[in-house]
Amino acid sequence: MSLLLAGRFEPAELLIWRTELQRALPGETLFVWQPDLPQDLRDTIDVAIVANPPPGSLRGLPKLRLVQSLWAGVERLLADAELPAAVPLARMVDPAMSEAMAETALWAVLSLHRRWFEHLAAQADGRWAPHVPQRRADEVTVGVLGLGELGRKVAQRLRGNGYRVLGWSRRAAALEDVETLHGDTGRDALLARAEIVVNLLPLTPLTRDFFCARTFACMQPGASLVNLARGAHVVDEDLLAALDRGVLHRAVLDVFRTEPLPPEHPFWRHPRVTVLPHVAAQTDPRTAAAVVAENVQALRAGRALRHLVDRGAGY
Ligand code: NAP
Repeated sequence: MSLLLAGRFEPAELLIWRTELQRALPGETLFVWQPDLPQDLRDTIDVAIVANPPPGSLRGLPKLRLVQSLWAGVERLLADAELPAAVPLARMVDPAMSEAMAETALWAVLSLHRRWFEHLAAQADGRWAPHVPQRRADEVTVGVLGLGELGRKVAQRLRGNGYRVLGWSRRAAALEDVETLHGDTGRDALLARAEIVVNLLPLTPLTRDFFCARTFACMQPGASLVNLARGAHVVDEDLLAALDRGVLHRAVLDVFRTEPLPPEHPFWRHPRVTVLPHVAAQTDPRTAAAVVAENVQALRAGRALRHLVDRGAGY
């Protein structure tokens, strides 16, 4: 049997993925998808390793038994009509990615708490503007939406740095030293109590447009939003209105409805929006290839596959 790598990669990126996957799976044959891949080779493929697979790339694979995503978010794959309905879909869960996300979330929370963004603006104006009093981390309540692979790690990292942390998930959850909430009541309680809200929800029909006027109205006056999950969680116009009316203090945004963020988008120039170019936690081929290898080996050995997506729930 053999593997198919199907994605929209720059040539240098493709070379890195091929090298790392071959290194992690030395005994396997790896084909890179191309429109004219002969059918006799397609007939040998039982695992498709995908990253935004080109249209048609998952068609005509009669032996396919696993689709392994190289990305953590799978909303685009699930919306792809060509994704075979009966084949298990696994997403990327990589400890290196969780670590990177924890670093980004901590940076954003520290920057908001210690007012680094205001200091940057003051420096640009040549203003000496100390903020007093200096608040301790244990005086700051941070809410983490989504307690999955990334949200849990983020909540623990923030907790380890002394913040009071609330976490929200779909089902009831437990996490050491983190107050966990769920359901609509839990959501509203978190929004009312957190001064910084970090979004790590998956993008599903239930979470799309989560941050809208109604949500902002539930948040503490002067609270800040850190969106590290998906751009379509946020209704841009409602966020801008909440910032402009002073309902929200600041937004740190890593992800956007359209990426790259169009040059004319008001987020670029808003004085209280910080724009990052979707860099909170990138997939690292060196560690991600080992995660893929683990699932390919599990499939071959008849062991349970890891990180399977619940297609009904959408994540
Ligand atoms: P995950 O492991 O699937 O966790 C999702 C969490 O959200 C779970 O705790 C789940 O609750 C909760 N959830 C789902 N639907 C919910 C709902 N309707 N109400 C309340 N809670 C809900 O996801 P992940 O791997 O941590 O990824 C989180 C997000 O980060 C995704 O949007 C992903 O695309 C994004 N991401 C961004 C970057 C970046 O660089 N910016 C990198 C990687 C990933 P249960 O625990 O009850 O299931």
